[in-house]
Amino acid sequence: MHPPHIAVVGSYATGLTMKVKRLPGTGETVLGSGYRVDHGGKGSNQAVACARMGANTSFVARIGNDAFGDSALALYREEGIDVAFVRRTSDRPTGVGFILVESGSGNNCIAFDAGANEFLTADDIASSQGAFRDVSVVLAQLEIPVEAAAAAMSAGRNCGATTILNPAPVRPLPASLFHQIDILTPNQTEAKVLTGRSPDASVAPEEVARDLIAMGVGTIVMTLGEEGAMIVAASTVRRVPAVRVAAVDTTGAGDAFNAGLATALASGARLEEAVEFGVLIGAMAVMKDGVIPSLPRRDEVLRFCRERSLSLPGWFTGESAARP
Ligand code: ADP
Repeated sequence: MHPPHIAVVGSYATGLTMKVKRLPGTGETVLGSGYRVDHGGKGSNQAVACARMGANTSFVARIGNDAFGDSALALYREEGIDVAFVRRTSDRPTGVGFILVESGSGNNCIAFDAGANEFLTADDIASSQGAFRDVSVVLAQLEIPVEAAAAAMSAGRNCGATTILNPAPVRPLPASLFHQIDILTPNQTEAKVLTGRSPDASVAPEEVARDLIAMGVGTIVMTLGEEGAMIVAASTVRRVPAVRVAAVDTTGAGDAFNAGLATALASGARLEEAVEFGVLIGAMAVMKDGVIPSLPRRDEVLRFCRERSLSLPGWFTGESAARP
């Protein structure tokens, strides 16, 4: 069996986090503790998760010519990700987020500079043909310019791959882009915003998904947090329940879900099976603190399923029939 082959087009950013007793006011300096530097960026997280599950993964991105960019490349080499199309730019730094977390309340304050991510262009995608060779899934998100995400979808279509857009963080999209998306994976809020509703509008998820289909998307796979996910196509609605786990930190659940979905589809799974796998990987990711440490490796997925007597799909175990 050939390993699945996926191209991820997206962002990388370094997260600099510090705990403070109280969030500072204007002009104030407070003492912090527990300073941490973490790898982040939705594209990067999703690429790492795909690679950990055994997919041949190419990442198309822009990072700066700086120490954080070096550190990102070191991560990709360690995880076995193809970095031939991770370009470096000298006129912008690597994307970075400053995060202050108030110890008692957990409230936070974040400032984010997308840096080099904003320099990823449609031309970069067009000149990254090698990243799309033999891929069966192209996966993009929206922490890059919309033109770059659109170019990723059309590159996927041109090479006969399934195109997946995870519309996060949500922003207005041109009407033409919806027609290039085979599978759109919004959470409930993102889905509402994409259809012009307010994020807190009270409306059934099926109705929102149907509007997105009318806008030209093939299939909507809406994530519903601890409720699992919903698959909506032109004439069908199916719900896939979540895997019950003790959630510790839900950051990165969406990234893990998208990577699970992409890896399963690239391995030849049917859509419903692929969503079940995404739900499983999403659940595993909420069981640990942080994002990169919580993205499961193939052997961890196998162990988790065996311990819980969850059936493992044949395409994942490498066997022709599923077994408990
Ligand atoms: P996002 O992080 O993008 O908002 P969701 O919160 O919908 O996305 O989570 C993505 C997926 O991760 C869900 O569809 C679900 O399968 C899984 N997931 C999220 N939270 C939990 C949870 N508390 N328990 C089990 N699975 C979860």
